[in-house]
Amino acid sequence: MLESTPFEIPVFRPVTDPVSEKTDVVVVGLTESGALTPTLSAIDGLTDKWISRLIELGQLRGKQGELSLLASPLSDGPVMILVVGLGNKPVTRSDAFESSASAIRKLVDRKRDRVVVSLAESFPEEFQEQIVAGAVSACEVQALYQADPPIEVPASIEFSGIGQAVIDRGAVIGQSINQTRRLVNEPPAMVYPASFAERVEELAAGTELQIEVWDENKLEAEGCRSILAVGAGSSKPPRLVIMRYQGGGNEAPLALVGKGVTFDSGGLSLKPSDAMVDMKCDMAGAATVVGVMLAAAKLGLRKNLIGLCGLAENMVSGDSYKLGDVIETRSGKTIEILNTDAEGRVVLADTLDVAVQCEPQAIVDLATLTGACMVALGTEVVGMMTNDQALCDAVRQAAEVQGEPVWQLPMFELYDEKVKSKVADIKNVGEGRWGGAITAAKFLENFVGDVPWLHLDIAGPAFAESPKSHRDAGATGVMVRTLLQWIASKD
Ligand SMILES: [Zn+2]
Repeated sequence: MLESTPFEIPVFRPVTDPVSEKTDVVVVGLTESGALTPTLSAIDGLTDKWISRLIELGQLRGKQGELSLLASPLSDGPVMILVVGLGNKPVTRSDAFESSASAIRKLVDRKRDRVVVSLAESFPEEFQEQIVAGAVSACEVQALYQADPPIEVPASIEFSGIGQAVIDRGAVIGQSINQTRRLVNEPPAMVYPASFAERVEELAAGTELQIEVWDENKLEAEGCRSILAVGAGSSKPPRLVIMRYQGGGNEAPLALVGKGVTFDSGGLSLKPSDAMVDMKCDMAGAATVVGVMLAAAKLGLRKNLIGLCGLAENMVSGDSYKLGDVIETRSGKTIEILNTDAEGRVVLADTLDVAVQCEPQAIVDLATLTGACMVALGTEVVGMMTNDQALCDAVRQAAEVQGEPVWQLPMFELYDEKVKSKVADIKNVGEGRWGGAITAAKFLENFVGDVPWLHLDIAGPAFAESPKSHRDAGATGVMVRTLLQWIASKD
């Protein structure tokens, strides 16, 4: 049977002396000011001012993102030195994450045993977690099915100036981002509703997460007719995965809800090949919920959380749901189907209703929901739509802290009539293409009652066409860091 490259996880540990121990590479930061960090200063001292000379000669410039891999003249200590440019602006948390990730991505091109990351000295102490998370995230790529693995993950990545406890926390965050990315990058023949649910159970084994899986019979019994409708055209039946984490006593949980369309052909409103080619990524919202729940449990966050993944495969067959169909959703509201490719909101209708029944204090949903959101904001910005400004502001603040770009779109009442149906309570498309990200959110709003709710449209940022220096193309794991930041900061 086809099998993807297994996760290779290096040993992560602290190192006290980055210069004198025999290692393969030491990674150091340099700003445009040319000021030497303690590690660079130590190397300079042992090499008759070699580093200072390189800076004077303009060979090391500290430009933002510039990576200079130098053969070390030291007879003991590291074989190579990787200097990471940190620019001339105040450094941010995402600089910490990305500079560390870029460095490791540069170093996984060949076999290396010991890589020492000495970047903590270039950042405030509270950014240390991101240095580790970035390094870990760089150990995952989208090429999961190549005879020659495209990267060589170092046997150990060691961090100078960071204690083991922080290293462990950063590693959990980095690995959770990678678990999310892995779920998305796997082909649809590997990740379909039932196998997605099985993977969640495997990933949650040994954690404090409780997993409940609703199969097609349970979905039927629960009245989840909209999830079943979307999945009706597929030979692979739908699932609903419920993940519970009790870290916060008796308080009401925060609910995270993810769209998990494991493959979206568009259904009878069939997509052309160009638009279908990446549609394994249409479950990225659900995969993000899994990543956040895993991390929250492993980090022992003192909050109650519930994660729900609505999982279906949108396919074409004699049983497919049809244009003109009217579905009575679990909530009792009826929806008219006018485009079977607007299926994400249909799956979410029942998934949100199950979330509401759990009486959460807030719901955040994530979905690769609309191309319209990408038309509005481009491919790298998450669209936010809400019925509760305080909730939206809190998540936006967490996103700013973590450096993940988000932008709020309006939810004026005037949009409500755009999803009114002539036949049912609402219809699953708006009026033409206009405001498509918002009319999708307006549809969802019908299923959250008066629970504070935030909808995150991640259609663009969840899956990247091309790589960046700090991550491969394909799944990005966007919003895992932001949501963990939000959950942890919530009092
Ligand atoms: Zn679709």
